[in-house]
Amino acid sequence: MAKFFLSASSLNMFNDCPRCFWLAVNKKLYRPRGPMPSVATGIDLVVKEIFDHYRALNQLPEFLDGKIPGKLIPLLPRTMYAQFSPEVTLVGHLDEAIQFDDGSYAPLDHKTKNRDPQDIHPTYKLQLAVYRLLLNEKFKKVKDFGYLIYFYPVHNEETHWIRFSGSLKRIDLQDHIKELEETIRAAAECLKRPLPEPSDKCEF
Ligand code: SF4
Repeated sequence: MAKFFLSASSLNMFNDCPRCFWLAVNKKLYRPRGPMPSVATGIDLVVKEIFDHYRALNQLPEFLDGKIPGKLIPLLPRTMYAQFSPEVTLVGHLDEAIQFDDGSYAPLDHKTKNRDPQDIHPTYKLQLAVYRLLLNEKFKKVKDFGYLIYFYPVHNEETHWIRFSGSLKRIDLQDHIKELEETIRAAAECLKRPLPEPSDKCEF
């Protein structure tokens, strides 16, 4: 039996173009990667350091205090796995997770944006739904929601310099749990068939 390791990004790629997904998983032929904006990478590293600082204090970061009824997971696993089916293993690296008083968990992911977005991109919802399954495999008790934090620059009117603001979104994953399972099954089937046709919405 074929064995596949699938992640949130590969499943999002499957939704975007099954051919690219097939080539990446079956042949290790990847899409060309554009340059990563280094400011986003820098912010990401600093945010991780800040979360680790508060984790050591067993506190939520100040800007989340009173907004999330839980605490940061005491030990964040580097890579998490979930056996979805005999042939599919899910894999992922969570940014963060919240532990609640009842012993359940919810994923938390952070993104850097140019402003506070009004709509949640479907790829982020799929990502949180995958992370929820990864947490469930390890801890067996998860919420059916996750959190996203958007960090974006704003003009500080007092100092007339840049500061970063954060916006917390609680994402209900109920509708996405079944959808994700169907996507995983369809992706696994795709990998067992011949190379799919190119996507008509290809940007590459
Ligand atoms: S159509 Fe575009 S996205 Fe799909 S395999 Fe070709 S290059 Fe990749």
